[in-house]
Amino acid sequence: MIVMKFGGSSVANAERIRHVAGIIETFADKRPVVVLSAMGDTTDHLLEAADTALAGTISIDAVETLHKQTATELGVPLSEIDALLQELRTLLTGVSMLRELTPRSKDYLVSFGERLSVRLMALYLNAKGTRAAFRDAWDIGFISDSNYTSADLLPETWENLRKNLGPYAEGKKGDGLPIPIVTGFIAKDAKGFITTLGRGGSDLTATIIGAAVRAEEVQTWKDVDGILTTDPRIVKEARPVPVATYDEVAELAYFGAQVLHPRSMQPCLQTGTPVRVKNSYNINAPGSIIVTNHEGTPPAVRAITTKKNVTLIDIVSTRMLGQYGFLAKVFESFATHHISVDVVATSEVSVSLTVDSEKSPLAALRADLSKYASVDVRKERAIVTIICDVRRSSKIIAAAFEVLSRENINIQMVSQGASKVNISLICHSSEANTVVTLLHSRFFGPEGEDLLSSGGTA
Ligand code: ADP
Ligand code: ASP
Ligand code: MG
Repeated sequence: MIVMKFGGSSVANAERIRHVAGIIETFADKRPVVVLSAMGDTTDHLLEAADTALAGTISIDAVETLHKQTATELGVPLSEIDALLQELRTLLTGVSMLRELTPRSKDYLVSFGERLSVRLMALYLNAKGTRAAFRDAWDIGFISDSNYTSADLLPETWENLRKNLGPYAEGKKGDGLPIPIVTGFIAKDAKGFITTLGRGGSDLTATIIGAAVRAEEVQTWKDVDGILTTDPRIVKEARPVPVATYDEVAELAYFGAQVLHPRSMQPCLQTGTPVRVKNSYNINAPGSIIVTNHEGTPPAVRAITTKKNVTLIDIVSTRMLGQYGFLAKVFESFATHHISVDVVATSEVSVSLTVDSEKSPLAALRADLSKYASVDVRKERAIVTIICDVRRSSKIIAAAFEVLSRENINIQMVSQGASKVNISLICHSSEANTVVTLLHSRFFGPEGEDLLSSGGTA
């Protein structure tokens, strides 16, 4: 059995759905479980509809037109789609009357995108003569905590999936069991309310199914030729990474690469289920394969990513040098204010760290830290992360600083993760794309042969 996940751009319109249906059919013998995202930008359109409803107007034109037009072009009945659109309209009426949108109603609202797309695909496959059945994630056992908009799946999801998908996974060719077409991104909590797994969460839906049911592999189909050496919107020469490890991809996603959901590697890391990233627009491209370990010594640098909109905080102890307990106090303050730290560098009396600017209430934190330290807060910073083999870090850092100093770029902090796969540099946000471009051409351009080649530790 395999899991095939198709992202929003892969199912953006009727033509794309036809194409994807064809890809699914080619793998029919492998007993695929299919996971879909919402069509195109539907999730964004639903969030916009919520804003409009909060201002008193109910408008679902973009979502309604896209789904109805697609159903008509695919020649499938409209009743399922109409029923959901009606429920969506009722929800937005509630939002507009109350002028209130709680995180819980937001999750209910965005769930319509995935619920609509799986219905269209299942109806279309059946119309073509391929048996398929749409499944809302909760009907096959996806259960999460109640952390709306970024819920975590509960451990019982594993067992539920094994129970519900096992008979299909273990079934035999010709037994007539329909291909399950599952909603990505959504679940329900113990109280029965709809939750979401965070933006991009369909990747996690796919990997947990693959791990729970011990799939042969999980395929995530995107609109790029796999995991690329950097964001192709910053560097158009970015090229596919043929093999990466779960750890490398987890770091890549955590430090800003949109390509996979940050938590999506966890289930397959536990079971060793391979994850393949493929391009639905270019099915012959080999894509990337994600595995536990590299065979032999991998190239020194795997990829470069950037996370913008971070704040750099320098905290210098006002007490004596060498005082113990300083770092403990600092991290206690961050814990008290529920602020999570991304990158850290320390000296004996000071610590520099970065936090996500949007998610961090800094005023209260600052007041707290100021009781025992002087605090300097620098906004509009970016983290540029080099995913690499840190056993060769001296060579990598030397090459990075040589090229950046040539261009007079000032790096404000450096941190080498203990995870052995990343080196992070902090620069001004306005320089982040330049830093990525310079590093990319140094590591992946003609000059990079020394570092790209396998073997040798620095
Ligand atoms: P999905 O179709 O699964 O929703 P996304 O749109 O979330 O896919 O992610 C794919 C996009 O991520 C690509 O189109 C690309 O622009 C962007 N991206 C950013 N960094 C990378 C990277 N290192 N490798 C591949 N894609 C990346
Ligand atoms: N549709 C959701 C989003 O746009 C989830 C996903 O695509 O994975 O974030
Ligand atoms: Mg995505």
